[in-house]
Amino acid sequence: MEPQRPPLLEVKGNIELKTPLIKAPSRLPLPGSRLKRGPDQMEDALEPEKKRTRGLGAAAKIATSRPRAPPPTTVPQTQGQTTAQKVSRKTGPRCSIATATVLKNQKPVPAVPVQKPVQKPGTSTVPPMVGGKKPGKRPAWDLKGQLCDLTAELKRYRERTQTLNLENQQLQDQLRDAQQQAKTLGIERGTLEEELTRVRAQAEQGQHELKNLSAHVLELEERLGTQEGLVQKLQKEQLELQEERRGLTSRLEKQEKRLQASEAALLSSQAKVESLQQETAAQASLLTEREERLHGLEMERRRLHNQLQELKGNIRVFCRVRPVLPGEPTPPPGLLLFPPGPGGPSDPPTHLSLSRSDERRGTLSGAPPPTTRHDFSFDRVFPPGSKQDEVFEEIAMLVQSALDGFPVCIFAYGQTGSGKTFTMEGEPGGDPQLEGLIPRAMRHIFSVAQELSGQGWNYSFVASYVEIYNETVRDLLATGPRKGQGGDCEIHRAGPGSKELTVTNARYVPVTCEKEVEALLHLARQNRAVARTIHNERSSRSHSVFQLQISGEHSSRGLQCGAPLSLVDLAGSERLDPSLALGPGERERLRETQAINSSLSTLGLVIMALSNKESHVPYRNSKLTYLLQNSLGGSAKMLMFVNISPLEENISESLNSLRFASKVNQCVIGTAQANKK
Ligand code: ADP
Ligand code: MG
Repeated sequence: MEPQRPPLLEVKGNIELKTPLIKAPSRLPLPGSRLKRGPDQMEDALEPEKKRTRGLGAAAKIATSRPRAPPPTTVPQTQGQTTAQKVSRKTGPRCSIATATVLKNQKPVPAVPVQKPVQKPGTSTVPPMVGGKKPGKRPAWDLKGQLCDLTAELKRYRERTQTLNLENQQLQDQLRDAQQQAKTLGIERGTLEEELTRVRAQAEQGQHELKNLSAHVLELEERLGTQEGLVQKLQKEQLELQEERRGLTSRLEKQEKRLQASEAALLSSQAKVESLQQETAAQASLLTEREERLHGLEMERRRLHNQLQELKGNIRVFCRVRPVLPGEPTPPPGLLLFPPGPGGPSDPPTHLSLSRSDERRGTLSGAPPPTTRHDFSFDRVFPPGSKQDEVFEEIAMLVQSALDGFPVCIFAYGQTGSGKTFTMEGEPGGDPQLEGLIPRAMRHIFSVAQELSGQGWNYSFVASYVEIYNETVRDLLATGPRKGQGGDCEIHRAGPGSKELTVTNARYVPVTCEKEVEALLHLARQNRAVARTIHNERSSRSHSVFQLQISGEHSSRGLQCGAPLSLVDLAGSERLDPSLALGPGERERLRETQAINSSLSTLGLVIMALSNKESHVPYRNSKLTYLLQNSLGGSAKMLMFVNISPLEENISESLNSLRFASKVNQCVIGTAQANKK
């Protein structure tokens, strides 16, 4: 049995040594050292002996060959075994078995006649030494002895031949074994070569993998480096975070303490809140109760306010005398007198006396003509020193009536230059002391509306400002190309069956504060200034009508009220001097004046008709009364300022104005009804 060996290990060794496998010493246990060389080499190993044998002939062959096992015939069994054992020791276990087999199966070799070598002439006849002692030379005559020697020698040769044959047989067996082994080895070599190829491929693949793995290792090392850097960074960050965490923990502790304190505070607050909520509920019910009462009081206030206004008269006339302006002649003393009221000097004046000298009744003696004193009494008289705010104070309550739902109309009547515009608009220039009734009334209305919003009233306002000149209506709030131009404005009812009047092509501007109204007044002044350059001065010969449509709503109570507040700066009431020569300009002026007088007298007639409760009120007789009919009717409140010039030269016109105003003052328009819906 051949011991199993690890082929891969051997091959691997070969690969490492870069030695061809065929040259590698086989580790296979071979039956003799000779067989280790392979069959060919063994042939070569055998060759010298053959050569020698051939060269020397049979005798020489015998002489040079090693003494081998003795011929079987002569060698006793024990001796043969010893020889076999010796051979076995030399050639290894396999050879010894083979030899033993050979010896066991050995048959008696037939005696091969030893041919005497043919002696060539000239060659020595000396018999070759065949082992043993060299026989002593026999005398030539001793033929028998010689024959005996030769016979002995022949016998030795025969024995030798037998031995050699046996040996030859053994060698042939060995050769066969060796050939067999060589064959096996060849197969094994083929297998090993295949294996080698496979292993080489494997090795190449391994090397490739190794390369890849090395690259991978490098990459991993690189990554490891990066990861280590990252780890260091993370460790640093961790340290920082730990530090931060410590800080946060301490902060958290503080916060927790504060939270605990806050929670305690919250608890006490909640208790407070509960008590406050109870209080609030109580307050709310009280508030509702108070609101209810307040509303009742407000309605009562409105009723009483209206009663008061009615007691004061639905048509009131205030007389205002302007001061003497710088550069004007000082009027003679006593021309206008303001006697105190029945309550003494502390009472606001309500009387005015005008003293007029009657030049027609002049005396021949040259004594001063007698003067005629005209006394007038009005709801209120404002002497020249009266300030704008004093005047407004008197009408503030009336203005408020408009918020309560009563139409209110305030006129300024008087000759040109008597202070109508000053009273209504005031002096432009931003001096709040000189502000007229319109801006003051607006401010008052917006502030009262704001107060009433706290009681649930919601007000909205729309402003318009038109001028009536020679019975044509023009929008004073016109902008763009229409600015300053006479417009084709017409007064119409807002809708079929509607009492509300509207001026076509005129702007109706929603306003929310006095600033917006101021801007509109500024625009109206600009419009008048443009018109003045186109048509000469005509503002004094036209009526300016500022109207604010007021709408109030109390949604939670379903109440609504609405009324117009009209502030009218009338055209100059002066009459044309009939003694003047009538040139083309004067004729035009006459027409203007007639139109003005007509509209003013229509106003007087309308008031009279209303006062007398006539069935027909001539509103349609002038554009002014037509436009204002909703502000003059039975439910309306009317106030007329009669503006008087203090100058002596205007005394006649002043007297006319005072007479007109007195007539109006005598009128009483029926009980005003609030326009409630
Ligand atoms: P009207 O509009 O009636 O023609 P104005 O209002 O234009 O008159 O007044 C004529 C002039 O008299 C203006 O210069 C005005 O400033 C001045 N004026 C009128 N009333 C007063 C007054 N109460 N205080 C001071 N100046 C006045
Ligand atoms: Mg004026």
